[in-house]
Amino acid sequence: MAYVISDDCIMCGACAEGCPAGCISEGDGKYVIDADACLDCGACEGTCPVGAPSQA
Ligand code: SF4
Ligand code: SF4
Repeated sequence: MAYVISDDCIMCGACAEGCPAGCISEGDGKYVIDADACLDCGACEGTCPVGAPSQA
């Protein structure tokens, strides 16, 4: 499993800075998670101001 970022993302970049795997990058209109590299740690979910990341 991996976390995914919904369209609620406001592209603040906080999750990418805090991700221990460095697997979050800027995508088209929202940030995206590389599912193969995601450690499923949940840090992004706790960091995001709008609750966009969630477990897939
Ligand atoms: Fe990165 Fe952890 Fe979020 Fe996966 S769950 S994208 S490893 S912060
Ligand atoms: Fe988007 Fe939330 Fe990540 Fe900010 S912390 S870039 S709003 S998913």
